[in-house]
Amino acid sequence: MTSGEASLMPSFSLDCNDQQEEDEEESIEKYAINIYLSDPEYSASDIQDNRMSECKSKIFNYRKLPTTSVIIAFYNEAMSTLLRTIHSVLETSPAVLLREIILVDDFSDKVFLKSQLENYISSLERVRLIRTTKREGLVRARLIGATYAIGDVLTFLDCHCECVSGWLEPLLERIGENETAVLCPVIDTIDWNTFEFYMQTGEPMIGGFDWRLTFQWHAVPEKERQRRNSRIDPIRSPTMAGGLFAVSKKYFEYLGTYDMGMEVWGGENLELSFRVWQCGGTLEIHPCSHVGHVFPKKAPYARPNFLQNTARAAEVWMDGYKEHFYNRNPPARKV
Ligand code: UDP
Ligand code: MN
Repeated sequence: MTSGEASLMPSFSLDCNDQQEEDEEESIEKYAINIYLSDPEYSASDIQDNRMSECKSKIFNYRKLPTTSVIIAFYNEAMSTLLRTIHSVLETSPAVLLREIILVDDFSDKVFLKSQLENYISSLERVRLIRTTKREGLVRARLIGATYAIGDVLTFLDCHCECVSGWLEPLLERIGENETAVLCPVIDTIDWNTFEFYMQTGEPMIGGFDWRLTFQWHAVPEKERQRRNSRIDPIRSPTMAGGLFAVSKKYFEYLGTYDMGMEVWGGENLELSFRVWQCGGTLEIHPCSHVGHVFPKKAPYARPNFLQNTARAAEVWMDGYKEHFYNRNPPARKV
């Protein structure tokens, strides 16, 4: 029995697995995900492609699509999930479209992310590693990665993702058609404990927010359903979840990229969403592009800057509507 199987059957308590259970506990404590199951050797499991049939049968002319650089910022991620993400991108992205993967180590202090990681990726083609010289937070870490990118399109991913084959082409095709479209894949859930992949097969959800400016998922409104010609057309979304999106490098620069004053985590997703819609672009979710994301049990690092980052977004983009935010969230006035 592999350790993976053992932990899928918690009701059987096997003495010989006590040590492993302890190790798993430790892994959950440290990284808030179960690295035993996410270890590549425990999961050669191919993700089942349950996308709509029209998505699977669509043929792309690669020569007409823009190329991309995939940018993955990470802070103290477990080695196994990070490597899984990298391999997944390499295996599911057509070589002619993927210029490179740029890893940005946001000043992690884990020892295994130093020479061990360097040695590992040195054998991989098209994978580059950049290290920040201080903790930058996810916004500036991503932007540092972007400065090295040579692809036409910047594709940002979190460091704990798995791509479903065919995920990249629809994003690039749409951006090739319309440079001001910022595209998100459908985000599928990877269970933090069992690493099971749950594909969202129904109509995708779109992003919204409440007046505390917390991100929320909503059903596609009837008006948007009517606007689209087919169920594989991109769906306009007011906001994005944040970690997974593709944008033309040129258009991202035109937008002024992100608010570089944002620290650590939070708020940048709404800031960028408001920026896109107010600067003549569109934010869209492509129903044929699926990427899984591990939602950890709890964040593996402190996130003290959410409120401050969010107040920045409100001040810059919401004009008088920011009063709704401050009324719903009075402490925000003080930050
Ligand atoms: N990240 C980073 N620096 C930070 C915080 C986060 O590089 O200070 C990275 C993190 O490793 C991940 C991405 O930014 O690849 C998004 O963070 P996370 O996955 O924790 O956010 P969530 O998905 O929970 O919203
Ligand atoms: Mn994440």
